[in-house]
Amino acid sequence: MQQIRSVADELLREIHIPEQKIQKMGFAIPGTVNPEKGVIGVAPNLGWREVPFASIARDIFPWQIRIGNDVNMALWGELHHPAMDMDAHPMVYGIFCGTGIGGALAINGHIWNGPGFGAGEIGHIRVVENGEKCGCGNRGCLETMIGKEGVRRFLLANGGESRKSPFYEILREKDSRIKASAIKKALAGKDPSAVKLRKHCLKYLSTGIISLIHIMNPNLILLGGGMMDAFDETFLDHLREIVKRDNIMGENARTELVLSRYGDHAGVMGAALAE
Ligand SMILES: [Zn+2]
Repeated sequence: MQQIRSVADELLREIHIPEQKIQKMGFAIPGTVNPEKGVIGVAPNLGWREVPFASIARDIFPWQIRIGNDVNMALWGELHHPAMDMDAHPMVYGIFCGTGIGGALAINGHIWNGPGFGAGEIGHIRVVENGEKCGCGNRGCLETMIGKEGVRRFLLANGGESRKSPFYEILREKDSRIKASAIKKALAGKDPSAVKLRKHCLKYLSTGIISLIHIMNPNLILLGGGMMDAFDETFLDHLREIVKRDNIMGENARTELVLSRYGDHAGVMGAALAE
């Protein structure tokens, strides 16, 4: 928290704004969050459980503190984008594919948390029976297939161990993250493992989206995160085709799939606008 304080101080100095002018500070947290109580329930990728985050933050920062799940915050940001038409899209679902596969749901402009503050966790639907262990403790979650670890594992099993692979150096580092730019470059060079990875991500992401449409049939699904940056615009076209072909309603489902409008800034926008 002290580290965040120093970064905040530095930023305020840089933009020449005195701290008295700041009203509130928002935190976007990768885990289940009770925003009213300011408590984190569980944050699997950080190894946190039952953390009274807001009260810790209030001891360090002089501003009002708002906390929320990171994907809820990102969706909240997207809801405020000028391109968002809430009347045409009363039910909006956001999927952000990065380290994890995060999901969030908004109905009539309100984030739906659910009674356990875990609504929308599409990354933890099981897609492989007895699959790899997930950070949440279960096995075979969607996140284990196409989240950061899933991508690493897939590339290692598909030629990434070879010295010729464009991913060789980065895969040798433990816990390293394959950047979207590296995948983009490998695809441009027609690297076979990157081509296979694109197919793999299409397969599993569409599986998640089709289940989501069958359960909720949202008006709009916003897609963001590193995976969307890694693949070219035809990725979204292919995803739309598979989803249209394999959901039971076909095109009558009328769920639109679009890219996140704020991209990497969605979470920041949402945290800044948190009420
Ligand atoms: Zn999981």
